Amino acid sequence: MTGQRHKFSCASCGKPFTYWVVDGNSHPKPKCYFCGKDFYPNGEPPKEEAAAAAPAVVGAPAVVGAPAVVGAPAAAPEKPA
Ligand SMILES: [Zn+2]
Repeated sequence: MTGQRHKFSCASCGKPFTYWVVDGNSHPKPKCYFCGKDFYPNGEPPKEEAAAAAPAVVGAPAVVGAPAVVGAPAAAPEKPA
């Protein structure tokens, strides 16, 4: 299985931590190892996606959407144009 470490900030305690995210998983559910809280930083996966992710087929997915930008500050204020 391939993937990358992604950096998340805990939704509960706010501490930064890294979590291994499998390629193609756009809705990872990292677990904070400071407080044990798990959460969906990208929102909960749609039902179809959760079902599609269930089969344990090993092999590179042929088409993988662009990985969600993880590590960008969630609370970055948008500057007015
Ligand atoms: Zn935490």
